[in-house]
Amino acid sequence: VARHFENGWKHEHKKVPNIKRIFAVCLPDHLNETYEEYNDRLERQNGWRGANEQLVFHGTERICSLGEKDEHVTLCQRTTCRLCCILQTSFLVSKAGSAGRSFKRFGPGIYTSSVSSKADDYAIPPWLSDDKAMIVAKVSLGKISIHYKTTQHLTGPPLGYDSVLGDAGVDLNYDEQVLYKNEAVRPAYVVIYQRPLAIGAPTFTMPRSAAQTTLSNTAATLTAAATAAMATATMNSSASNDCTIM
Ligand SMILES: [Zn+2]
Repeated sequence: VARHFENGWKHEHKKVPNIKRIFAVCLPDHLNETYEEYNDRLERQNGWRGANEQLVFHGTERICSLGEKDEHVTLCQRTTCRLCCILQTSFLVSKAGSAGRSFKRFGPGIYTSSVSSKADDYAIPPWLSDDKAMIVAKVSLGKISIHYKTTQHLTGPPLGYDSVLGDAGVDLNYDEQVLYKNEAVRPAYVVIYQRPLAIGAPTFTMPRSAAQTTLSNTAATLTAAATAAMATATMNSSASNDCTIM
C-alpha cells in the first residue's frame, strides 16, 4: 500500500510525503458481501477478470484525530467528519458532492484517482494538524468508458459500460475514476501521512540510521494498529447518521 501511494504521487511541485501509519479498514459483512456480489455480476457479464478491480485513492475532510496516534482508531461519529462517515457507511452516491465538491465533471458519482497526489488536494486535515489522511479504496471498474472531456450531464456510465474513466490529456491533468453504484467501491486502507511540502521549502533531514530506525518502528506498530481499527470500524458500522461525503 505504501509503495502504491508513493508510486501514485505524480505532482512535481509537491514532495512525496512521509507515511506515518497505514490502517486496514474492516467493514461489516453486509458491505463486503454486496461488493463481492457486484464483482461476481461483472465477471458473469464481462468474462474472466471482468470486475477489473483496482486500488485507488480518495481524499476527503477529517475533523477529528483519527489515525494521528496508533491508539486513535475510534470513528468520531460526527456527521461533518467525512472521513469517519465513509469508514462507517462506505461511499454513498446519494451523499456525493453534498459536502461541497459541487463541480462534478462526469455527473453525480463517487470520484477516485490512481494519482495519490491528486487525492491529496481533497484530503483536508483538522486545523493545525500536521497529519493528513487518505482513503485507499478498492473499486470494481468493470468495463470502462474513457472520456477526455468534461461530460457533466452523465448520470451513469454510458450504455454497455460499468464506470467512467476521465483520462488526462484534454480537460484533465490527472485521471479520475467515477463509480455510479455504492457497491462498486469500498474503503480498504487509510494512509496517514505528513502534510506534503512544496518543492523548494526548507526541510530537516534525519541522519540515515535514525531514519531507518523510525521506519522499522512504524512497520512494527502497523499490524497492531490495523487490528484495532478493524474492531472499531466493525463496532460502529451499525450506527445511523446523516453524513455528507465528498
Ligand atoms: Zn472523524
